[in-house]
Amino acid sequence: MHTLERIVIVGASLAGLRAAETLRSEGFGGSITLVGDEVHAPYDRPPLSKEVLRGDWDADRVMLAAGADEGLDLTWERGVAATGLDLEDRRVALADGRTLPFDGLVIASGAAPRRIPGTEHLRGVHTLRTLDDALAVRGAIDAGAERVVVVGAGFIGAEVAASCRARGVEVTMVEPLPAPLARVLGPAMGEVVADLHREHGVDLRVGTGVAAVTEADAGRLHVALTDETTVEADLVVVGIGVVPNTGWLHESGLLLEDGVLCDETTSAGPGVVACGDVARWPNRLFDETMRVEHWEHALDMGAHAARRLLAGDGPGEPFTPVPFFWSDQYDRKIQLAGRVRPADQIEVVAGSLEERKFCALYGRDGRVVGALTMNMPGRVIRYRRQIADGLRWDDALAAVAEAVAASVPSAASAPPAP
Ligand SMILES: Cc1cc2nc3c(=O)[nH]c(=O)nc-3n(C[C@H](O)[C@H](O)[C@H](O)COP(=O)(O)OP(=O)(O)OC[C@H]3O[C@@H](n4cnc5c(N)ncnc54)[C@H](O)[C@@H]3O)c2cc1C
Repeated sequence: MHTLERIVIVGASLAGLRAAETLRSEGFGGSITLVGDEVHAPYDRPPLSKEVLRGDWDADRVMLAAGADEGLDLTWERGVAATGLDLEDRRVALADGRTLPFDGLVIASGAAPRRIPGTEHLRGVHTLRTLDDALAVRGAIDAGAERVVVVGAGFIGAEVAASCRARGVEVTMVEPLPAPLARVLGPAMGEVVADLHREHGVDLRVGTGVAAVTEADAGRLHVALTDETTVEADLVVVGIGVVPNTGWLHESGLLLEDGVLCDETTSAGPGVVACGDVARWPNRLFDETMRVEHWEHALDMGAHAARRLLAGDGPGEPFTPVPFFWSDQYDRKIQLAGRVRPADQIEVVAGSLEERKFCALYGRDGRVVGALTMNMPGRVIRYRRQIADGLRWDDALAAVAEAVAASVPSAASAPPAP
């Protein structure tokens, strides 16, 4: 049993801060040191591709309240990266040569965006993960960039495209799959999102990838696509996924498999827990070992991991959330609860795809595994609770049919014809 007096948290962002808050709210009175390699105070990422990029919010609006400490009595190590972990000596090594001793460790180092190899030196090619990234893209638009190529039509790419259109910038979005978001939502729902972007003037190139990006004169970029066409741009924003930040753990002996592999309680080793985008764990509810890159998940897992750490050598509670995500594109709010796969059964149970106001259920092995809504926020919340309770596919559809029948006046109850 490790006596917990000193807790170090690596990653001073959403999951790490929530872990710190929870440690204090659960009564932990020892020292908490938060190590973060960014120089900014902790901030929220979702507005970066939305309000910040559109120019609606200044940087100070994205700061996280707990980043101001608010009585949490934290020791901050800001602007310095953790570079190693010695589990035997129980120390975290820092980039400036110091080491921090700990009794308990929270790993919350998040994820970093993938880049297109060979483009690292090109000034006009950006990713969007940090506040500085968002300000750089916004700055380029403010400075007169008129044409942007968005590489990847996942959630980040699609939001960047929508925000750039709101700024009047010409957008070409390039996606190797047949439709935006198809990897997550499946092709049918991807088509709805494709139409949404086309209607807002995005030149959507699906089924093709980027072969090369080269710089022409005056900073202009040539983006050569694998279908042998070329697009000219002032700016390229790459949104092709992320890799978990586990480089600093390579020699640690922890299990690293596309993230820090935890047990079902979020424990990665004695006195070590992981949470947020960097953590992979078996989620019993879906019978799947998963890593989730969502805002609410970072909060929930940060809190759970903190409680797990405080539970010491006890068995700990399994972490069994129904993941939840939202995305804002133009005037549409897309929300997804659950864990869906492109091959799942899909049934639209309210609204219609044509109106782009709907709720669709995803089913697998007789269970509802996800609910997707567009501009129908109440339903996703209700289904999220029911998915957690193990909602059966047949029961869900029967309830929908019953509700429809109840809302249609029957011949018997209809008033007599005049
Ligand atoms: C532009 C954008 C928009 C998003 N929009 C949405 C949305 O609409 N809805 C939604 O549900 N989710 C959204 N997300 C996802 C959500 O923001 C993330 O899931 C969440 O930020 C994850 O939090 P985290 O604390 O686990 O990791 P991060 O936020 O990545 O934080 C990890 C921190 O650790 C630092 N770090 C990394 N390595 C080290 C090291 N070795 N030493 C010290 N510090 C280190 C990193 O620099 C970073 O500050 C969005 C993400 C982005 C980037």
